[in-house]
Amino acid sequence: MSTEKDLRLSSILIRWYERNKRELPWRDTTDPYIIWISEIILQQTRVDQGYAYFNRFVKRFPSVGLLAQAEEDEVLKLWQGLGYYSRARNLHAAAKMVLDKYHGIFPRGYTDVLSLKGVGEYTAAAIVSFAYNQPHAVVDGNVFRVLSRIFAVEEPIDSTRGKKLFSQLAQELLDDKRAGLHNQAVMEFGALQCVPVSPDCNNCPASVMCLAYAQSKVNVYPVKAGKQKVRSRFFNYFDIRSGDGHMLLHKRTAKDIWQGLYELPLIETVQAMPVEELQRTDSFRRIFKNGDELHVKYITQMKHVLSHQTIYATFYRVTISAMPDNDEYLGMKVEDAGEYPVSRLVHKYLESEGFSNG
Ligand code: SF4
Repeated sequence: MSTEKDLRLSSILIRWYERNKRELPWRDTTDPYIIWISEIILQQTRVDQGYAYFNRFVKRFPSVGLLAQAEEDEVLKLWQGLGYYSRARNLHAAAKMVLDKYHGIFPRGYTDVLSLKGVGEYTAAAIVSFAYNQPHAVVDGNVFRVLSRIFAVEEPIDSTRGKKLFSQLAQELLDDKRAGLHNQAVMEFGALQCVPVSPDCNNCPASVMCLAYAQSKVNVYPVKAGKQKVRSRFFNYFDIRSGDGHMLLHKRTAKDIWQGLYELPLIETVQAMPVEELQRTDSFRRIFKNGDELHVKYITQMKHVLSHQTIYATFYRVTISAMPDNDEYLGMKVEDAGEYPVSRLVHKYLESEGFSNG
């Protein structure tokens, strides 16, 4: 239940929002499907980058039924370059679930929306509040920052206690009658006004209520417990070409980064390994029966940084007379390789080799 002070803060933020909000295509709709797509795209993507993807995605799949009926490869291809591909796979799986379980009609209940694959508490709250004005407060990175500063919350945002506390605080602050508008306002306020570095506090309508500002401690909030360690991985990719213009791709099926995407045949090693040593490994012999005799040409190295992993990739070219007989790989004409969804790393390599891979 919101107090008078909470409602005053909510009014300040809503008034600010109505004057300053960005005009975005997913803002002027109450269609839960469109809101859902935009929220999933924006989860780990900046608005300016996500904008074009959103437009392409809803143009190709204007309804949940059409998305459900699509091939996964096509969904991933549309997603190519956005990263965090589990988002696309989950969207696709959830669309099928809406079709089967809810007869193609997007569910209304918070718990039903939350049960969809890839939909967490934040996304479920965003969908039901924006589409149906249901009183569920959203808590994302922007909300953490705004609330931690206004209320000078010392609890780290990445701790279990902190997450619980911020959820309660956001819910108390929510103006139930204008839940959708309130949620949009807090998030936009965090994105444009109460920004991570050097916010313009002197021109902030919430500064009168902001404890961090009063204590000159704006840069201290939000408090974080500690950063997750970044893991290094070493990928050795083999661009295998046959004399008759064919090459091989492999579909990543394991529960790992880039699941469902295609790539060149890969050997992952625990550390960087010289090619002569690679050629003597069992993994190499599994790809090439006569591994030791082949001429393996070094092409290039690329470093690819993800949020919790850094990939050190080395690309080699191997020219052989006939493609290896191996079910793990998909043989294709070289000019067809660009049709398959690939990671941004492999895309960069293919591009450098003159492929057009949209
Ligand atoms: S005064 Fe500064 S820190 Fe406080 S809400 Fe406004 S912009 Fe954020």
